Formats: sequence, C-alpha cells, structure tokens
Amino acid sequence: MSDIDRNQFLIDHEPYYRPVSNEVALYEAAYAARMPVMLKGPTGCGKTRFVEYMAWKLGKPLITVACNEDMTASDLVGRFLLDINGTKWQDGPLTVAARIGAICYLDEVVEARQDTTVVIHPLTDHRRNLPLEKKGELVTAHPDFQIVISYNPNYQSLMKDLKQSTKQRFGALDFDYPTAEIETEIVAHEGHVDKATAEKLVQIAHRSRNLKGHGLDEGMSTRLLVYAAQLIGKGVEPQAAAQMALVRPLTDDPDMRDTLDAAVNTYF
Ligand code: ADP
Repeated sequence: MSDIDRNQFLIDHEPYYRPVSNEVALYEAAYAARMPVMLKGPTGCGKTRFVEYMAWKLGKPLITVACNEDMTASDLVGRFLLDINGTKWQDGPLTVAARIGAICYLDEVVEARQDTTVVIHPLTDHRRNLPLEKKGELVTAHPDFQIVISYNPNYQSLMKDLKQSTKQRFGALDFDYPTAEIETEIVAHEGHVDKATAEKLVQIAHRSRNLKGHGLDEGMSTRLLVYAAQLIGKGVEPQAAAQMALVRPLTDDPDMRDTLDAAVNTYF
C-alpha cells in the first residue's frame, strides 16, 4: 500500500468550467468505462480546466504531470534514492496515481520521448498494471485510476508525434476556442471585466486567429484573453493590457506586432 495521502490530490472547490458541447457527459461515460482519454486542441483553450472540473465532479484525486522532452520513464514511474539508511524507492507520479486511484493527467504528452510514453501502455489496456522493473514490482492499478493526456495537434511534426500504438489506446475529445458568445462569458467571468470589454478582447483574438498560418503559428488563446482582462480589471489601460497580454507573448516579428497592435487599436 502507498503511504501517500490521497486527500491531498482532491479538488476541494468547484472549478469554474463552462461546458461548450457534450464533453461532460462523454467524459463521464468514458470514466465509467475507465477508458483512457485524450484531449486534443490548441494551447490555452480549456483542456486543463476541464480535467480539473471533471476530477472535482467525479470526486477523484487528480495528479497532473507537465511532460517535457527531458522526462524519462523514471520521472513517471519512480526511482531509487539515496538517503541516510541506504537506498529507498520513491514512486513517481504515475505510480502514485495508479496506487491511490487518481486521474493521472499527462499534459502535452507528445513532448515526452517515445521510450518514455510507452511506459503508460500496460496501464491503458485490459492489464491495467504498471511494472516497476527496477524495483521488481508489478503495481495493479486501483479501480478508480484513469489516464488522461492532452495533445496539441498543431505542434505535431513527423519527428514528434504519438505513435499509432499509443494513440489507439485512447478515446479522444476535440477542444477548440469556444464560440464568441461562450468565450466572452468565460473571459468576463475569469477576468472580472464587464461583458462589453470581454467582447472586444474576443474580437481581437478572432482577428489574430485568422492570421494563423499567415505569419502566426497560433492565434491568441482564451488563457491570454483572461490575462488581458485581469490586467484591465487591475486598472491597466486596455491598450497596454492587450499589448502586454495578447500581442507581445505571441510574436517577435515587428510587422506582425504592428498588425496586431492595429487590431487592438480598432477596439480600444
Ligand atoms: P489548456 O490546458 O487547453 O492549455 P487551460 O485549461 O489552462 O488551457 O485554459 C486556460 C484558461 O482559459 C483557464 O485558466 C480558464 O481561465 C480559461 N478557460 C478556457 N476555457 C474555459 C472553459 N470552457 N470554462 C472556463 N474557463 C475556461
């Protein structure tokens, strides 16, 4: 048994999540079947918030791992550490999640190397177990355990993609920036600004999203709109807030910055 306190991973307060389609019901059905789920969509469109909300709604602990290319299988499953008394095994986050029955959310899993990603395979099929090879233990996943990954299809290249043998272990939900009406509601709520201000920020984002593939890799995310709204809420003048939160993070190209600043100026 694990001596880890499961309660520390429970979400106490209801996270604000504005459903955009039937994703809540679909996720609930997938969870009931303990189906691994893949959330696909651009950065900052609500994937993480959705998982937090679902973990809260289902009353299950949530363990989130931000994946990166330096991550090794040991970072996920665990390793032996040296301490005063010699060596001591320490479970990694995936192992903890499997033991305590948490939802394990691997954010941007494609960032991890493929030899790291394969360690999740036995947890995603009928076996539902995790071999700790170095320790010589086979962990059987707790009945509540579920694995969720996020994946941004726009960033994928031939060099960096999930293997079919990994992809085809998941049910997938598509995420995207919500409709203008819903996004306005989210920005107003999260940024504590009035509807009219939120609406303008969303319009600016739409302009930027139309430039995707025409000089921009990605348009302004809902997350950036929330940042801009928060600055405005703190008394920053809207133009300056939009420049800081919407334009400057997105691009270093001077022409593109001018284009985006001009878009901001038509609204504020
Ligand atoms: P992702 O995981 O897709 O990169 P996040 O879930 O972190 O993005 O979303 C970024 C921010 O956008 C959240 O912190 C939240 O403020 C806001 N957000 C986006 N979509 C929603 C939504 N449907 N309901 C509530 N907040 C949302």
